[in-house]
Amino acid sequence: MNTLDSKQVAEIYRKHLSTGRAWLAELTGGHIETTSSGARVQAEDVEYLDCGGYGVFILGHRHPRVVDAVIAQIHRNPMATRLLLEPTAAVAAQALIGVAPHGLTRAHFVNSGAEAVEAAIKFARAQGRTHLISAINGYHGKTMGALSLTARSMYQDPFTPLLPNVAHVPYGDTSALVQALAAIGGRACVVLEPVQGEAGVVVPPDGYLREAARLCREHGALFVLDEVQTGLGRLGHWWGADREGVTADMVLVGKNLSGGVIPVAAVLATEEVYAPFAADPLLHTSTFAASPVAMAAAATSIEVLRDEQLIARAEHLGGLITCTLRNLLQEHAPHLGAEVRGAGLLIGVELPSPHVAGDLVLELQNRHVLVNHSLNASGVLRLTPPAVMTDADLDWLFTAFTAAARAVGDRHPVVTAERTF
Ligand code: PMP
Repeated sequence: MNTLDSKQVAEIYRKHLSTGRAWLAELTGGHIETTSSGARVQAEDVEYLDCGGYGVFILGHRHPRVVDAVIAQIHRNPMATRLLLEPTAAVAAQALIGVAPHGLTRAHFVNSGAEAVEAAIKFARAQGRTHLISAINGYHGKTMGALSLTARSMYQDPFTPLLPNVAHVPYGDTSALVQALAAIGGRACVVLEPVQGEAGVVVPPDGYLREAARLCREHGALFVLDEVQTGLGRLGHWWGADREGVTADMVLVGKNLSGGVIPVAAVLATEEVYAPFAADPLLHTSTFAASPVAMAAAATSIEVLRDEQLIARAEHLGGLITCTLRNLLQEHAPHLGAEVRGAGLLIGVELPSPHVAGDLVLELQNRHVLVNHSLNASGVLRLTPPAVMTDADLDWLFTAFTAAARAVGDRHPVVTAERTF
């Protein structure tokens, strides 16, 4: 279908899409991506190793089973009437609830992570929870309700006023949470990530989530885990909730649910929380939500995660990559004092400044390895590689990382730490 070359594409971006996006793409060579498979993305005559993807590609690109299921669904019935019963939604809901954290029996499908957050805010309101509490530097999306929870002034300030009655507490700090809850108790809904992704892969202190869940119960608040980035295997567990054995009133899922093929997200809720919406199907609707193509992608992605034992593979690969990157930085650029941290295949590399982090991203891209920066922590480079990485992919990553770390270390012989937020 595409007959445009990279210059023409960049020109159209500049004119009709986003000038900034065109500029960013040109910084990294200005290639246009054309095909993808597993951990590899082809851009014209250059092959990239994709260790970024903003947390979407736990199954890699174009997993054949997901692609086949989606194509078969397109041939059968891609969009539904929304008046008759539609079986792929039932299959996807059963599959998702089958692997959901304890106590969550209802699935409400939407089209994006931010929409899942919006739905959760309404579910909470319907339970009389008019006040929201989220964590500083947490990320929950950029629609108006979700943005009210995404506690970073850079994204919020141009759009105020946002939702009223939202408090932000330091992540990992249970006494701050107690204080916030004491003020609004039974009217509150607390929304937290099990590991903060966009804040620069911040792993909370042991027991934090369990204590947060307990405090919510004690104060009569609802507890929501935003697992849009962490859910479905990213942390080497099915859910972040499992890592600490916590139960929540709602868990939000997105990114990996798509299988990297069709956008889809969902709110998983308890019977009690979902009751008003189960009773009245028109209370919260969206034309494209639970479309059969998305449901085929979701149901098959869950099957693939289970059948190919990718959760265990994510845990194994995550440990290996984290440890290797830490050793490589220590060996080739020890003076940078970089910290490598994470859980499973959500891995953060904190550099002493955004400048050094940006340099490492570019050095990796020069060696055709894609990684992401963190939206709320520009000094932290983020890797969310697929759980289907092969040994050859790992070799590529480690060889490129060695050379990139050396190059960045040589360019910054003396480092001055700067704030990264
Ligand atoms: N919640 C979390 C934890 C996220 O990481 C993200 C996306 N980075 C979102 C919500 C928003 O998802 P989306 O971009 O699909 O709207």
